[in-house]
Amino acid sequence: MIRVNPNYSKIQANYLFAEVARRVKAYQEENPSAQLIRLGIGDVTRALPAACVEALEKASREMGADATFRGYGPDYGYAFLREAIAEGDFRARGCDVSPDEIFVSDGAKCDTGNIQEIFDLSARVAVPDPVYPVYVDSNVMAGRTGPAADGRYAGLVYLEGNEENGYVPEPPQEPADVVYLCYPNNPTGAVATKAQLARWVAWARENGALILFDAAYEAFIRDPEIPHSIYEIPGAREVAVEFRSFSKTAGFTGTRCGYCVVPSDCRAFDADGNAVPLQPLWKRRQSTKFNGVSYPVQRAAEAACSPEGRAQCRELIDGYLANARLVTDFLEARGYRCTGGRNSPYVWFDSGMESWAFFDKLLREAGVVTTPGSGFGRAGAGRCRITAFNSRENVERALERLGSVL
Ligand SMILES: *Cc1c(COP(=O)(O)O)cnc(C)c1O
Repeated sequence: MIRVNPNYSKIQANYLFAEVARRVKAYQEENPSAQLIRLGIGDVTRALPAACVEALEKASREMGADATFRGYGPDYGYAFLREAIAEGDFRARGCDVSPDEIFVSDGAKCDTGNIQEIFDLSARVAVPDPVYPVYVDSNVMAGRTGPAADGRYAGLVYLEGNEENGYVPEPPQEPADVVYLCYPNNPTGAVATKAQLARWVAWARENGALILFDAAYEAFIRDPEIPHSIYEIPGAREVAVEFRSFSKTAGFTGTRCGYCVVPSDCRAFDADGNAVPLQPLWKRRQSTKFNGVSYPVQRAAEAACSPEGRAQCRELIDGYLANARLVTDFLEARGYRCTGGRNSPYVWFDSGMESWAFFDKLLREAGVVTTPGSGFGRAGAGRCRITAFNSRENVERALERLGSVL
């Protein structure tokens, strides 16, 4: 008899976006003429940069001629892309990362979900709260937790974010072997300083632990003091894997390309406490289970790394950042203390109400869709997330409507 993986039944149905959709639909049926403005979901809205579109077109034509056709690509990504990434994203910022430490993938969701396969089942996992759900659910599926009670799984170490710590928790007092960190953060928009990341690197080095650093939003950083990469912290290479994506930086959510960095000297340990390099395990995992990103998409990603592409991406992100600033200024003028909004497309704040009640208020009184903070974890209770992913015009209209409600 074929039995299902019992760990899947432990997963708390994440009703968040389904419940948002249900409430929006109900409201629209009651009010068919209402023009809703969506500032809820974390998906980009503006077109691909022109440099990427040109590269996609050119590469597609190459695929259409025998002389330039390409079949399976190299296991970990084409050299042209890995070199462009190493140079533009790391060496240009003084980070020691070489092309053969970069592993191209179809996005950071897959990589952050898959990486746990190369760790022992007994690894003690620390996650932030509020959290990007992939970090938690992938470990639940693997069997690294007990059942959930009151929104938290037995066996996970939760790192609580709040206004006091600015949503940048300190390393835990209790033991943990691996931690997921995400800065600029989804959902809170918080950024971590060099000093804060340095405390995490020191903690990992002292405790034989590993940092999984999700930098999907690094391109939104404008403050020159805020690090873009964990590798800007001395000593991080041995204790950190970094995840990046073209999704939010170049509008690739529907095009699909990301990568992770596993430095050659990054280590975990075997049962006898001997250091084991992680890179060969990740190579083994990827070459067994993944067959690469399409050639045209890798060319488009390369184009996003060109000087022209970088300028176009910057302009795209500047537009979202200007929206985020409008939202933050609006809320702060009304006495709400915001996290994010400055080096991030997300604005997060304490609404002073129960999360879903506040969501309903904005939906019903202003026709504006947001995301209730409680959907990202217990520490999100009473909070609200507004995203900058929309047109300037729609954000201005949304704020006009919210002006009469808040
Ligand atoms: C959007 C996002 C990603 C990127 O996901 P892709 O699979 O690359 O589209 C990764 N991490 C976080 C926290 C995100 O919000």
